[in-house]
Amino acid sequence: MEEDSSRSQTSSLDGHHHHHRHEPTPPSRYESQKRRDWNTFGQYLRNQRPPVPLSHCTFNHVIDFLRYLDQFGRTKVHLQSCMFYGQLETPAPCPCPLQQAWGSLDALIGRLRAAYEENGGSPETSPFASSAIRVYLREVKECQGKARGIPHKKKKKKTTSTATETSISRDDEQSSSSSSTHFS
Ligand SMILES: [Zn+2]
Repeated sequence: MEEDSSRSQTSSLDGHHHHHRHEPTPPSRYESQKRRDWNTFGQYLRNQRPPVPLSHCTFNHVIDFLRYLDQFGRTKVHLQSCMFYGQLETPAPCPCPLQQAWGSLDALIGRLRAAYEENGGSPETSPFASSAIRVYLREVKECQGKARGIPHKKKKKKTTSTATETSISRDDEQSSSSSSTHFS
């Protein structure tokens, strides 16, 4: 309290005069991304007609939110009718939609889930922890994997992975991280 009042008196203190105090560590990329995501989600709920209070938020709202984000996605997901269906590269333009890569959505849900709990939400009733969300994400993953020719990473068995397998899975990771969530 005292600190706050003294700071508001001398707003110039903000500069380089507080060496004696602990520099507030700048939030990590994860933390600031989490805050942005949480704000975006809150805004999304408020923009619903009628607005959805957080206490009424269910996994359905969360899944709708994920679908809504697809319009900002940069991952081409070919429809089954497309001639490039099953190809990671798109050699020519096609009208298939862009989506959020499932890896981005997966990471986003993790951040929102953490933010929800940090904001006082109970983990037991967290809409982000719902199994429906896990099912949805798995479906997106399978669907995108098929459309883009990315084979599923098999559960790690004792078989040594071949060179092709490792290079494919590396592509997968690259593409999902390069098309990270991008919305404002
Ligand atoms: Zn296509």
